[in-house]
Amino acid sequence: MTIDLEALYTDLHRHPELSFQETRTAGIAAQHLRDLGLEVEENLGVTGVVGLLSNGEGPTVWLRADMDALPVEEQTGLAYASTATGVDPEGATVPVMHACGHDMHVTAMIGAVEQLVASRADWSGTVVVLIQPAEEYGAGARAMLDAGVLDRYPRPDVVLGQHVTPLPAGVVGVRSGTQMAASDGLSVTLHGRGGHGSRPHATIDPVVMAAATVMRLQTIASREIDPQGVGVVTVGAIHAGLKNNIIPAEAKLELSLRYPDDASREKVLASVERIVRAESLASGAEREPDIRTLHTLPATINDAEATERVTNALRRVLGEASVIDPGMFTGSEDVSWFARDAGAPLVFWFWGGADPAAFAEAAAAGRLAEDIPTNHSPFYAPEIHPTLEVGVTAMTTAAREFLD
Ligand code: ZN
Ligand code: ZN
Repeated sequence: MTIDLEALYTDLHRHPELSFQETRTAGIAAQHLRDLGLEVEENLGVTGVVGLLSNGEGPTVWLRADMDALPVEEQTGLAYASTATGVDPEGATVPVMHACGHDMHVTAMIGAVEQLVASRADWSGTVVVLIQPAEEYGAGARAMLDAGVLDRYPRPDVVLGQHVTPLPAGVVGVRSGTQMAASDGLSVTLHGRGGHGSRPHATIDPVVMAAATVMRLQTIASREIDPQGVGVVTVGAIHAGLKNNIIPAEAKLELSLRYPDDASREKVLASVERIVRAESLASGAEREPDIRTLHTLPATINDAEATERVTNALRRVLGEASVIDPGMFTGSEDVSWFARDAGAPLVFWFWGGADPAAFAEAAAAGRLAEDIPTNHSPFYAPEIHPTLEVGVTAMTTAAREFLD
């Protein structure tokens, strides 16, 4: 009996679940893994699932797929589009969509495990399957590690993971070294002194303080980072005040920072702190600003030797031209916590889901950004075929490279 992967994918797509609420998805994945003969544990790290496939002596390979969806209203118009809603951490009812393709990750993982089970006479070793919650919060890998996944299962000799992207379907993108940026989310509270809008001299205006801070923060990327390097400083949220004639007492900013390595991380964090404190001082604030970390994601750094093995194996199976270097992505991932905590090499690659003809047309017209929806867009929808098959093949091939 073979698993109907297309049916599994469209079912998961129709029923997306927000981070740390993936109970239905986890239950379905766990049942498939159990049916395939794996030893399965559920609710490890809130909703995480672990499957253990022991097949004799040999290396231990950890295979990771994330499973959470996003608060996005799907606009793909697909027959299997989501109309689901969920309740976010603030208690608001929001539309939910698999806008990052994690439904594809789970489906490809189940397909790969099916292949590994079917071919178990040809390899030996141990496979640990991780179905991870809450990647979009950068918190799910940490939750599974904090719940003891490293101590309770054979430790990995290599950690493997993959992410579907708007590359053309059939193409796999993998590179040695930094594949994805490190990122920090910061919350900054600037303290002023509130008062009447007609009497600014009697106040310390946190709105002006915030405006100056936002502008000065832009000089980090443009003036402090080597133009050959990568660095992003985004102020994604700014909140202050309630009414035109009241000068508020404080202003809040939320920042998203991205960098390729730990050294640039230190530098950018120090620059942010310096600027935030200096602008506060420049405004004559009577109280120091508060800077709080919302989340920290390490750079996704692919191990050189393991990546070369995976790249060569993928080239043999998918063809030389189908495996490319996609460059570094400024997005971030929490997959590398597994490898970092275990002290094991990581290989994390991207695989395409875009219609190849539409992609080629958009590329020729210089309209990739406009015409090919990316992850997190309400229009993002990978072509089911051959994306699913390539995802299964890539994960199986990479695992077998270490298990054969
Ligand atoms: Zn995402
Ligand atoms: Zn994602």
